[in-house]
Amino acid sequence: MKFNKEKFDAIIIGAGIGGLVTASQLAAKGARVLVLEKYIIPGGSGGSFKRKGYTFDVGASMIFGFGDKGYTNLLTRALKDVNEKCETIPDPVQLEYHLPHNLNISVDKNYEQFINKLSSSFPKEKKGIKKFYDTCASVFTCLDSMPLLSIEDPSYLFKVFFKSPLSCLGLARWLPVNAGDVARKFIKDPELLKFIDIECFCWSVMPALKTPMINAGMVFTDRHVGGINYPKGGGGDHSK
Ligand SMILES: Cc1cc2nc3c(=O)[nH]c(=O)nc-3n(C[C@H](O)[C@H](O)[C@H](O)COP(=O)(O)OP(=O)(O)OC[C@H]3O[C@@H](n4cnc5c(N)ncnc54)[C@H](O)[C@@H]3O)c2cc1C
Repeated sequence: MKFNKEKFDAIIIGAGIGGLVTASQLAAKGARVLVLEKYIIPGGSGGSFKRKGYTFDVGASMIFGFGDKGYTNLLTRALKDVNEKCETIPDPVQLEYHLPHNLNISVDKNYEQFINKLSSSFPKEKKGIKKFYDTCASVFTCLDSMPLLSIEDPSYLFKVFFKSPLSCLGLARWLPVNAGDVARKFIKDPELLKFIDIECFCWSVMPALKTPMINAGMVFTDRHVGGINYPKGGGGDHSK
């Protein structure tokens, strides 16, 4: 294919969700953008395809970022910036754990409901459970109160410091901390600590002691705030 690259301010390679959000953000600011994709459909690991009338997700199907307030609703905001919207179906339960010793826990969108269910399986740890997940929520509140670009880049955090000093100070405190240490501060039961390891593993592919508290704060709270919302028509509908 021949094209005049002078015509574009930016050329993005790959129409995965990362490339598409980048392209839409640049286009919303007036840049002329070309997105090049080597596959036949957009979306990458977050796309979907049809076979014999059925829609299959390529990968992602539990989708964060479709909340309606704050700053962590990245997909809602990216679509809005280019005057688009994606209709979604809220998922009342994010995950259902079926673990040994009859430990069956559903992670409901409703925070209190989830905390109560977990507490009823570990009644002696009721206070610790609440303190751990409330601490995650306090990290999330800092994240959700400032425009989110990179949460792991100290120079970015420095730039937004003057905009949201309290949130930044709140976040900076958690940068070197991992979720496992915070959990161990409040919780003693080894089986419950193992459950928190599994929770972390589902999202960071690491046990709690290797999961940064910033990540844990994000995923253990946004599921109860913005929630998990499935694009109507298929996991990759937002890419189209
Ligand atoms: C099985 C699976 C399940 C998942 N489940 C979830 C989930 O439930 N919830 C969640 O939030 N996340 C989930 N994820 C993660 C999420 O899907 C990815 O993090 C996200 O989609 C990555 O987006 P990306 O744009 O960075 O990369 P990709 O989706 O990999 O997109 C890259 C794109 O670039 C294209 N490309 C590559 N090289 C070239 C080239 N040279 N020229 C042109 N095009 C090129 C590729 O074809 C692709 O379309 C899952 C991932 C997988 C694989």
